[in-house]
Amino acid sequence: MARVLITGGAGFLGSHLADAMMGRGHEVICMDNLLTGSTSNLGHLFGKPGFQFVKHDVTNFIHIDGPLDVILHFASPASPIDYLQLPIQTLKVGSLGTHKALGLAKEKNARFIIASTSEVYGDPLIHPQPESYWGNVNPIGPRGVYDEAKRFAEAMTMAYHRAHGVNTGIVRIFNTYGPRMRLNDGRVLPAFMGQALTGQDFTVFGDGSQTRSFCYVSDLVEGICRLAFSNEHFPVNIGNPREMTILEFAEEVLRVTGAKCKIVFKDLPEDDPKVRQPDITRARALLGWEPKVALREGLEHTLAYFRGRVTAS
Ligand code: UDP
Repeated sequence: MARVLITGGAGFLGSHLADAMMGRGHEVICMDNLLTGSTSNLGHLFGKPGFQFVKHDVTNFIHIDGPLDVILHFASPASPIDYLQLPIQTLKVGSLGTHKALGLAKEKNARFIIASTSEVYGDPLIHPQPESYWGNVNPIGPRGVYDEAKRFAEAMTMAYHRAHGVNTGIVRIFNTYGPRMRLNDGRVLPAFMGQALTGQDFTVFGDGSQTRSFCYVSDLVEGICRLAFSNEHFPVNIGNPREMTILEFAEEVLRVTGAKCKIVFKDLPEDDPKVRQPDITRARALLGWEPKVALREGLEHTLAYFRGRVTAS
């Protein structure tokens, strides 16, 4: 049994990772400053033996009593709207927060996993994106605060591995969806689900020809758990290679929800990547991992969650 610290533990991915680790019999400490996370994502874990929640901003020194075997550093605003509204917090958690979390990993001799992102590839010139691609990022554009924070976080992680021998790993996460995304986080899936459930027009940015590849959260979490208990130090893409245009995605959400909404076209945000698709050769070879949940099935689970949220709000 391992003792696992999850920073950003009250967020979308952090809370699902907490479930997965608890489900595997591990002890879990979730840490979050609740800037974009919510304890309601962890409500079902409070009071369970082996679970603890600590409210703390990881850009400040992190103190944990007792041993730690694994640190999953997942704290960060993660949707384009969030990091546009919280640019300095995004840069601080990726830089100062990663430094503090790595210092803790060194102190506790723990395996450390940084949540990195497909955004390190920016608006990619290589397609699909293998981990060996260095990316095409605009450092001073509106998305730069997130992209560069994560690129810095990867550099810091490799430095702690090389200079201090910390057992680190890097997961590059591609678009992921599922229950516990925030209805108002601005990402395409919550936006379309919210619009479908309230009978509003679907807002497609640009002409909708830009592509993304959507991974259901349970698949992603399985990949991250495998990486956490492996000894791999170099970046591993985790995502679903099924690529589609945003317009196709809108049509799929319309089909699953049965909504009759119109599609309206809005301006494409600055530096919005034109294509994105993970090359998961490394995840397959190193972790024996690949996604299993079909888009239709994942959307149905997610719809059930958002139905509850829309009715509650
Ligand atoms: N998008 C859209 N309508 C929305 C929200 C997003 O068409 O209401 C587009 C966005 O421009 C991007 C894609 O959907 O091309 C995915 O956006 P998201 O914010 O989910 O994440 P990203 O992949 O850009 O980080």
